[in-house]
Amino acid sequence: MREIGHWIDGKRVAGTSGRHADVFNPATGEVQARVALASKDEMDAAVAAAAKAQMAWGATNPQKRARVMMALVGLINRDMDKLAEMLSSEHGKTFPDAKGDIQRGLEVIEFCIGAPHLLKGEFTDSAGPGIDMYSMRQPLGVVAGITPFNFPAMIPLWKMGPALACGNAFILKPSERDPSVPIMLAELCQEAGLPDGILQVVNGDKEAVDAILDNETVQAVGFVGSTPIAQYIYSRATANGKRAQCFGGAKNHMIIMPDADMDQAADALVGAGFGAAGERCMAISVAVPVGEQAAEALRERLVPKIEKLKVGPWTAGNDVDFGPVVTKAAKENILRLVESGVEQGAELVVDGRDFRMQGYEDGFFVGAHLFDRVTPEMDIYTQEIFGPVLSMVRAASYEEAIGLAMDHEYGNGTAIYTRDGDAARDFASRINIGMVGVNVPIPVPLAYHTFGGWKKSGFGDLNQHGPDAFRFYTRTKTVTARWPSGIKEGGEFNFKAMD
Ligand code: NAD
Repeated sequence: MREIGHWIDGKRVAGTSGRHADVFNPATGEVQARVALASKDEMDAAVAAAAKAQMAWGATNPQKRARVMMALVGLINRDMDKLAEMLSSEHGKTFPDAKGDIQRGLEVIEFCIGAPHLLKGEFTDSAGPGIDMYSMRQPLGVVAGITPFNFPAMIPLWKMGPALACGNAFILKPSERDPSVPIMLAELCQEAGLPDGILQVVNGDKEAVDAILDNETVQAVGFVGSTPIAQYIYSRATANGKRAQCFGGAKNHMIIMPDADMDQAADALVGAGFGAAGERCMAISVAVPVGEQAAEALRERLVPKIEKLKVGPWTAGNDVDFGPVVTKAAKENILRLVESGVEQGAELVVDGRDFRMQGYEDGFFVGAHLFDRVTPEMDIYTQEIFGPVLSMVRAASYEEAIGLAMDHEYGNGTAIYTRDGDAARDFASRINIGMVGVNVPIPVPLAYHTFGGWKKSGFGDLNQHGPDAFRFYTRTKTVTARWPSGIKEGGEFNFKAMD
């Protein structure tokens, strides 16, 4: 059995807690490895070693740190296939999709090559007589990231890239479901020139996470995962005086206006709803056609497209549209919610409940499902399903459609399909959701913009990647300096405006 430990001080090390979790091959259902679950003591030791190493790294000039990022880009590209194979085998997503996962992370590392520019401070010459004032961005010290199973390369890279480029040491606690790729990325960081101890990958579960949250040395925590855990981590981290940004679950609506290109909208919905088996925080899980005519036209196009979707293992390469879900428990939860939809009166138009993957009967495959006539009080509407299940909610008007998206507790992403510029503009301006697509189904911002949801999809003030990441991982210090030529006689006792 393959054993996965931790990456500490530039080496793979075995865990010492005696606790482990199984890592599955979701396509076959077999346990393919065991991952060590760190104890509080192991986490505390990793943090202490990182704190020692950080001082020199924080004092390294930003251009040298940027060169490590530059080398890392080359190395990730070199090992793209190797990384993607491991990623697919532990997560289950298709091989092209695994490469996309790595690519979207890589783009943030490319952005981090601009660290010297992004870390430049502000300067005011002659703020008073002989007085200059300047602000600088300094690293926080040791910071941590806790990441979900569904993007085992992209989200660790989104967090570690900016944290390291800003001069911090970074503790990564990846998902215990697919922990191999983060350690492979750490090895590449070392090859790129990152000093040992600056990036520690500590595998674990709640015990390891709580050790991060309670460790006084850790200055900031970035989290991505489900909403209940995001809320828990945000409140415990901030109660302990840490900076925190915690991103949670989603229920993303696509509004389809009667004037939309229905073929285009149906294609977009199939890709955005079923890609990665629906295990994306930006997946579209709710389609909201406006008017009965739009609903019928959409349904007519959607059904054959969904029925034709090819499900299979990642080893089938480009021949599959989506793979299995991550665990047996995830599969059971999805099928439980599908049953609740039927019981609560939604119309199950495409029924994937009996889907069996020939030759992979023990794999965690779930067939594609389409529900029509879903209403807002049903569990399949209120809850995140995180599986290949698309729900259609028919709206009588644009106001009803936008109201549905606005009233939902999640606010990660949304999209509108229309040819009407006024409707699109109104939608983008009024909607209370963090990322909006206009005729774009999955509006994930590129690396140089920022990524973040609203409402119960995000807790904290700053978004991931883009300029916000450089703010999150640094703090500002402002210096007021007077040189002898500006010093006047005598003390000043009153707080007053600058001369
Ligand atoms: P999860 O919340 O179960 O786990 C995320 C991380 O938290 C993992 O590292 C896990 O080990 C840790 N964790 C789990 N339970 C914990 C507990 N009780 N105490 C402390 N730590 C705990 O999420 P997941 O199943 O890995 O990922 C799927 C979820 O992530 C979905 O809800 C999805 O929408 C969300 N997600 C959100 C975004 C976003 O940007 N908003 C992006 C990707 C995924």
